[in-house]
Amino acid sequence: MKSFKADYVFPVCADPIKNGIVTVDDKGKILSVTDQNAPPLDAPVEQLSGIICPGFVNTHCHLELSHLKDKVKQQTGLVNFIMDVQKFRGADGSLVLDEAQKADNEMYENGIVVVGDISNTNASIPVKQTSKLYYHSFIETFGFLPTQATDTFNRALALMNEFKPLSCSITPHAPYSVSKELFRLIQRHSDTGHNLISIHNQECDDENKFYRYKSGSFNDLYASFGIDISHFKPQARNSVQSVIPLLTDKQEILLVHNTCTNLKDIYFIKRFDRKINFCFCPNANLYIENRLPKIELFMGQGYNITLGTDSLASNTKLCILSEMRTIQQKIPSINLATLLEWGTINGARFLGIDDEKGTLEAGKAPGLNLISGLDGLRITPDTKVKRLL
Ligand SMILES: [Zn+2]
Repeated sequence: MKSFKADYVFPVCADPIKNGIVTVDDKGKILSVTDQNAPPLDAPVEQLSGIICPGFVNTHCHLELSHLKDKVKQQTGLVNFIMDVQKFRGADGSLVLDEAQKADNEMYENGIVVVGDISNTNASIPVKQTSKLYYHSFIETFGFLPTQATDTFNRALALMNEFKPLSCSITPHAPYSVSKELFRLIQRHSDTGHNLISIHNQECDDENKFYRYKSGSFNDLYASFGIDISHFKPQARNSVQSVIPLLTDKQEILLVHNTCTNLKDIYFIKRFDRKINFCFCPNANLYIENRLPKIELFMGQGYNITLGTDSLASNTKLCILSEMRTIQQKIPSINLATLLEWGTINGARFLGIDDEKGTLEAGKAPGLNLISGLDGLRITPDTKVKRLL
């Protein structure tokens, strides 16, 4: 048994506690969260400067792309980014594995305890099997040609079997890379059994242009891959509006990035009976497109908002605190308590593990982070996270 005392404890499920004390057992399970006036427990107390919060939940990563760190040029736009990733992603298996292992260690050091991870291959399985972090793997499908939908889906089922018994589900990659037919197969699969969905959404303007008018750089992308997309007709509305009806209403759905999602899209989504969560990955958006989503539009709408790092192909580090810092710098009105909710309990809730992770409550083992170097309760360039448990 051990107690940690800090200037503030943020349980996330309750108001911050000044001079709060968190006591844990030797397995990291929380025994109590109290203020300093509560009767002391018979445990050694470590006095810390800063705030204590639960371990972070990273709801969007691609561990298998970790070897692409510093390979892809910044701020060239999504289509060039995709082409670069395709060019560089093939690499020696041991390099891929080594870099994935380093990325897993980096997330651990940065106080991340849970990861929602996109997987197109089995490369990350060995890391996940032995990791101290909890992973949910999204087996991601690509395939814009309707004739290939069944084969693509069956390959995903086979890959998912390789991941089991690790937590995993089958998911579509993005509106521009998945045919209606493949969307329907995933929808049917999701309607009958537990199958979390995570889909890249409106990461650039051209995704909307492609869906509205069939114009823009996605045509060039398909031409460069030699893929005939004559079957695709412009839909006269934004991508998300076109694919929402193709998504299951039985499962939680994470829309990731949302860089070019507007208020009309949000209102459209509201009219559909879908369990939508929104994930923001601001540092990846700056890396790829040098722009950020209009995060304020999503707030106060009743949506569960989560944070992600994306992969080291589009980020210099895998650190949820750094994502919070970027958001607070750009939108100072968003306070620390809100950012902590996004970076902890909301991700745990989406992934269905909030009984164990995401808040400081007796009986849970959510991990424990110390955040120091704050200016009052504001994140600064000097703010750091240290993993306590
Ligand atoms: Zn991604």
